[in-house]
Amino acid sequence: MPDTDMDRHEAIMQFLYRAPIGLVEVALDGTIEMLNPMAARLLLPLAPDGEMENLFAVLARVAPQLGEMSAAFLAPSGTVCEGIRIPLDAGTGGNPAVQVLAVSLLKLSATKLMAVVSDVTLEVQREQQGLDRRLNAAERTDTLTRMPNRAAVRECLQATMDREPAAKGPGFAVLFLNCDRFKQINDTHGHSVGDRVLGMMAERLRAALRLRERIGVATDVKPIAARVGGDEFVVVLNDLQHQDDVFAVAQRLLDVLTTPYGVDALQLTLGVSMGIVLEAQATGDADAVLQVASVAMTEAKRGGGMRFAVFEPEMQLRAARRGDIEADLRSALAESQLYVVYQPVVGLRTRGAIDCTAGVEALVRWLHPTRGVVVPVEFIAVAEECGLIGAVGDYVLNAACRQFVQWQRDLGLRAPRTVAVNLSRAQLEQPGFVSSVEAILRATHMPPASLQLEVTESLAAQHEQVRAQLRQLKSLGLTLALDDFGTGYSSLSSLHLLPVDTVKIDRSFVSQSDSSAHHRVLIEATVRVANSLGMSTVAEGIETHEQAVVVRDLGCDKGQGFLYSAPLLPDDVAHWLRAGTVRAA
Ligand code: C2E
Ligand code: MG
Ligand code: MG
Repeated sequence: MPDTDMDRHEAIMQFLYRAPIGLVEVALDGTIEMLNPMAARLLLPLAPDGEMENLFAVLARVAPQLGEMSAAFLAPSGTVCEGIRIPLDAGTGGNPAVQVLAVSLLKLSATKLMAVVSDVTLEVQREQQGLDRRLNAAERTDTLTRMPNRAAVRECLQATMDREPAAKGPGFAVLFLNCDRFKQINDTHGHSVGDRVLGMMAERLRAALRLRERIGVATDVKPIAARVGGDEFVVVLNDLQHQDDVFAVAQRLLDVLTTPYGVDALQLTLGVSMGIVLEAQATGDADAVLQVASVAMTEAKRGGGMRFAVFEPEMQLRAARRGDIEADLRSALAESQLYVVYQPVVGLRTRGAIDCTAGVEALVRWLHPTRGVVVPVEFIAVAEECGLIGAVGDYVLNAACRQFVQWQRDLGLRAPRTVAVNLSRAQLEQPGFVSSVEAILRATHMPPASLQLEVTESLAAQHEQVRAQLRQLKSLGLTLALDDFGTGYSSLSSLHLLPVDTVKIDRSFVSQSDSSAHHRVLIEATVRVANSLGMSTVAEGIETHEQAVVVRDLGCDKGQGFLYSAPLLPDDVAHWLRAGTVRAA
C-alpha cells in the first residue's frame, strides 16, 4: 500500500478509535480483537468479573440471542442485527446515567464482525417524554379517572407497532379489561358509586403498574394503562422479555382489581375479564389490535369471567357468528320467528301409572328463515350478551302463560297443572324484572301458583342480592325450580340456602342411573335432602323404561324426557293429553 493510503487508513482508525460510539472488532465466535475506549466504557459494567474477552459472553445476560444470530447469518458480509435495545437495570453498576444501550452487529468478512454500541438513554427518554406529553394532553385524557383515553392509547399503541419488531421475547402485549356486570353496580347503587369504583380501579391499575420491580418485568418504556369505555380499560406492556411475564402481570391485575371495593359503608365485589393479544398476533393497525383484544375479552367473559384469555383466530370466527345471530335475532323478535314448544312433565308417584297432567316445561325455538329451527343453546347466550334476553324472556313467559290459560279452557281437568319457564341470569339482573313478571301474570290471567320459574344453580348460588330477588318473585305466589342440579356450583349442603321449591336432577345423572351405582347414590341423596327441606324432585332426560323405574324407586316425584314425550307444539300437547292422562308406567 502506498504511503498516502497507509496514512489515510491510519487516520480513519484514529478517528474511529476516538469516535463517541463504541466499536468492537470481534471474531465470529465473539472473541474481542479490538475495542475503542467508548465501547470499553459502555460494556465494562456488563462484563462478569470485568472479563472483556468475548463479546457474546459479556452480553450473554442481556442479549443472549446475539451469538445465535451471528452463527445463523451465513452471508459473507452484511448487517446481522441493528439497534437491539438493552435496558440496563440498576444492579448492573457502571454509570447510572446510562440506562439503555443499542447494539448493532455487522459482518465485515468471513472471519470478522464489528459491533457498534451506543448509549441511547437520551433518545429513549425523549421518546418517553414525547409519549408522556401526548398522554397528558387534555383531549387524550379521560376526565373521570385522569387516565389516557381511547384516542391516546390507540396512538401510543400505533407508535409501538411502528417500531422494529422485538428481537427477543414477546415484545409488546395488549391487555383488554372489562368488568363483569358493572351495570349492576350502577343500577343498584347509583352512578356516583359506579364512578367512584371506576376511579378506584384506575388507581389500583396505576399502582400495580407503576414500578418496574413491582411487576417484575424489565421494560425500557413504562406500561400504559387507559380507560377506553364505560367499564373498559386497556393496558399496553412494552419490550417484554418473556411470555410468562405477560401472564404474571395479567393475573396480578385480575387479583388487585377483584379485591372488594369499600365505598362508604358498602363492600362491593367486582369480576373482571381480560383479553390478551401478543405482538406476534398483532396484525393491521392499533384499532384492529384493540378489536381482537376485546374479542378475546368476550371469550374470557363467556368462560365465566374473572379470567384472562389469549387471542386465537377461531375466537374471531365465533364472534362473527355471534354477530350474525345477534343481527338475525333482532329481526326474529320483530318478525315473530320465535315460538314455544312444551315438554310434558309426568308424575311418577302414582302406583304402577304415570300422571300426564303434572305439568309442561316451555322451551323456546327459533324458526330462522334460512337455517331452519335453531335450538336455544345457539342463541340464548348471544341474547344475554347483546341485551335481547329481556325481550326473548318476556316473549316466552307471555306465550307460556297465555297457552296455559288456553289449555285450562280447552281441556279442563285434562290440562297440565303447571307450566315451567326457564329464566336466564341476565333477566334476573334487569331492574324491574319482578314487576314485569307481575304484569304478565295479570295481563294473561295466569294463576301464579301454576307458574314455575326455573333458574340454574350458578344463578341461584350467587350472592344475597340474587336470592333476595328470587324471594321477591316467590312473593308473587309462583314457585321456583333449580334446573340442571348437579352440574354447577352448589352442593347438597348449600341447598337449604336457596329459596326453591323443586330440584330438577340433571340428565347427566339420570342417563347413567340404570348403569352406575354411583349415580344412583347421588340421585338418592339429592332426593333425601330435597325432601327433608320440603322440596320436590324432577328427574330430567329420562329416555328408557329402566331409567324411569330406577328414578321412581329412588323417590323422584316427577320425570321428564323423550321416553314420555319430546317437546311438542301446543296442539300436539293437547293430542298427547287427550290420548290419556294416566298411563301405565
Ligand atoms: P333445560 O331447561 O334443562 O331443558 C331441557 C332440555 O333437555 C331441552 O333442550 C329438552 O329438549 C332436552 N331434553 C328433554 N328430554 C330429553 C331427553 O330425554 N334426552 C335428551 N337428550 N334431551 C332431552 P332444549 O329445548 O334444547 O333446551 C336447552 C336449554 O336451553 C334448556 O335446558 C334451558 O336451559 C335453555 N332454554 C330453553 N328455553 C329457554 C327459554 O325460553 N329461556 C331461557 N332463558 N333458556 C331456555
Ligand atoms: Mg329447564
Ligand atoms: Mg334442565
